Amino acid sequence: MVQLRRGALGVGIFAACCDAFIVGKQQRKHTPRTAPISAVEFADPLVLGGGAAAVLGLSALTLGKPSDSEAVDDIKEVREYFNTVGFERWNKIYSESDEVNNVQMDIRDGHQQTIDTVLSWVDEKDNGVEGKSVCDLGCGVGSLAIPLAQRGATVSASDISAAMATEAQSRAEAMGVKTASFEANNLESVEGSYDTVTCIDVMIHYPTDKMKDMVQHLASLSSDRLLISFAPKTTQYVILKKIGSLFPGPSKTTRAYLHPESSVREALADAGFTVKRSKLTATSFYFSTLLEATRSA
Ligand code: SAH
Repeated sequence: MVQLRRGALGVGIFAACCDAFIVGKQQRKHTPRTAPISAVEFADPLVLGGGAAAVLGLSALTLGKPSDSEAVDDIKEVREYFNTVGFERWNKIYSESDEVNNVQMDIRDGHQQTIDTVLSWVDEKDNGVEGKSVCDLGCGVGSLAIPLAQRGATVSASDISAAMATEAQSRAEAMGVKTASFEANNLESVEGSYDTVTCIDVMIHYPTDKMKDMVQHLASLSSDRLLISFAPKTTQYVILKKIGSLFPGPSKTTRAYLHPESSVREALADAGFTVKRSKLTATSFYFSTLLEATRSA
């Protein structure tokens, strides 16, 4: 079973590389650019929350430019990406659009599994969000914020990409959801106190040395509970990362970051939170570990 899974992942990585490479080529052909194809774009559609994506991303980081020692403005790049080509692509993945390839479809399924897990947890007795305040950071198109609002939560959702926040707002309006607000904001600038803070598949954009501060900030916003997910850094995925590095592209400068589960747990503990449960969702191209943590007594 394990062997089968590994085999599937190996194929996944290969297909992912090919897919990403094709994406990169198309970009070059059709879109005149002033800068090299961005890292995030290269790994797309594999970047968010996806293990294969993260694996690719990291191998690109190792190989790529700028080097680790050069200053990298991840925030600026992520904002720009998710306001432009990344928005177009991920808006399709996070929808029912037919205009997705098999890789994107697999990522859509994996991501939906993570969302469904969160919803199944909050649907449990005495664990609900009805009448509670929720802050959803990096909300994307509202895939989680909207169903949480439909469950009676008052949701303050935000995303660094204005395009994402606007799309989430219009999806919420179209569904008659009135208890969710959406704004464009860097999660690091969000303030307030909420019963539950959610941050799904966003940590992949945070380098290891910034992850701890990010978790601290999320924790500072939550009076009770955190629901966060990240692409796990395991031996298996590190090996896959190396396989991914066998398929370098000339402009492959993806930055996507894996995190060891132990580091995320440690960051949560330092921030005063105890992990209650975790769930890894793994499809061929999407890997994401979800944690539910509550404020330690
Ligand atoms: N959480 C959503 C979207 C995941 S995609 C969901 O699961 O459906 C990741 C999102 O994080 C993107 O929309 C991206 O714009 C956003 N993001 C990345 N870095 C961010 C930051 N520093 N602050 C706020 N949003 C961020």
